[in-house]
Amino acid sequence: MKFPIYLDYQATTPVDPEVLKSMLPYFSDVFGNAASRNHEFGWTAESAVELARKQIAKLIGASEREIIFTSGATESNNLAIAGVAEMYQEKGKHLITTSIEHKAVLDTCHSLEKKGFEITFLPVNHYGQVDPEAVRRAMTPQTVLVSTIWANNEIGTLNPIHEIAQLCKEKNVLFHTDAVQAAGKVPIQVESMGIDLLSITAHKIYGPKGVGALYVRRKNPRVRLSPFIHGGGHERGMRSGTLNVPGIVGFGKAAELAQKLMSEETVRIKKLRDQLWNGIQSQLDEVYLNGHPIERLPNNLNVSFAYVEGESLMMGMKELAVSSGSACTSASLEPSYVLKGIGVGDDLAHTSIRFGLGRFTTQEEIDFALQKVVETVKKLRDLSPLYEMHKEGIDLKSVSWAAH
Ligand SMILES: *Cc1c(COP(=O)(O)O)cnc(C)c1O
Repeated sequence: MKFPIYLDYQATTPVDPEVLKSMLPYFSDVFGNAASRNHEFGWTAESAVELARKQIAKLIGASEREIIFTSGATESNNLAIAGVAEMYQEKGKHLITTSIEHKAVLDTCHSLEKKGFEITFLPVNHYGQVDPEAVRRAMTPQTVLVSTIWANNEIGTLNPIHEIAQLCKEKNVLFHTDAVQAAGKVPIQVESMGIDLLSITAHKIYGPKGVGALYVRRKNPRVRLSPFIHGGGHERGMRSGTLNVPGIVGFGKAAELAQKLMSEETVRIKKLRDQLWNGIQSQLDEVYLNGHPIERLPNNLNVSFAYVEGESLMMGMKELAVSSGSACTSASLEPSYVLKGIGVGDDLAHTSIRFGLGRFTTQEEIDFALQKVVETVKKLRDLSPLYEMHKEGIDLKSVSWAAH
């Protein structure tokens, strides 16, 4: 076993060796600009890009002409939301999203608010799911776009995307989903599900960082976007700039592998994830699962370990690379807005750890991780006066602390 053990696959994934191999020729031997129409160098690069476009389209059930390459899902989300908002502002200036989206969606919406758009941020239930009926109720004649995340990156919860997409179809409102975490984990069929825009990124599916895509529906309806990067008219005019050929080739290969491996990988990884959770539950008390117990990503486990500070827990198990429920923003240690959004109190949110499993996670690693987590939580709780009081049956909520 190699240490530290990587259990943060929702943050990023390593490039798969097959992906790396596919990319290497495109840095030097085959270095052409895919937009060079006059010679062999350009043609070879272009045909490699077109193959990747097909591979990516296939993973999500789209046509290759509907794939726009970007620098990653942050850009894809920006382009989808701000691009639609600007393009359709004559029709209306209202958008609907949820309170637990990725920051790339939330911050784009906040910037639109400053420009005079109205955004509804719908709350989610205790599991992190948005109610399609709430989406319906929030719609007004001015609504031009609904954007909801497919699988949440912190808690792994899956949204009822099919239902929301159908509802938007019915109401003639465009529908976008951030499918970064869902891609390669759950089947995606943009065409039959009625999705109009969808964001994905290579580095969450064992491809390289800095390359992503936006699916933009071409018919029923034909979606139009206002671009914000101008110059050259690449990617149907929606995203100018010389294409990152090696990155795109790797993205294509990663998509092909994701599709090929999805079903067997899901079974294997889910089994390891469940072992970890079952082990934690059977050996520790006062542990709480965050997110939906079933409707969740197969590779995500998010747990609150009451009476143990998440940051201390991570410090105590440096052999594991995991992530905590507190976002270390500048000076303050704020609990995650996603956990807050599903109603987890600040106390418990600060005790949360996200375990992200992936393609290269082994049984041995999970056995080690389980033992390490249990041992560290027990050790920290032994030092915790609050945990001791809890053990003695004292209701901590009824205790009034002396102020200093
Ligand atoms: C990682 C992530 C993004 C951002 O993608 P980048 O390619 O890193 O910009 C957006 N949404 C979700 C859900 C993510 O997990």
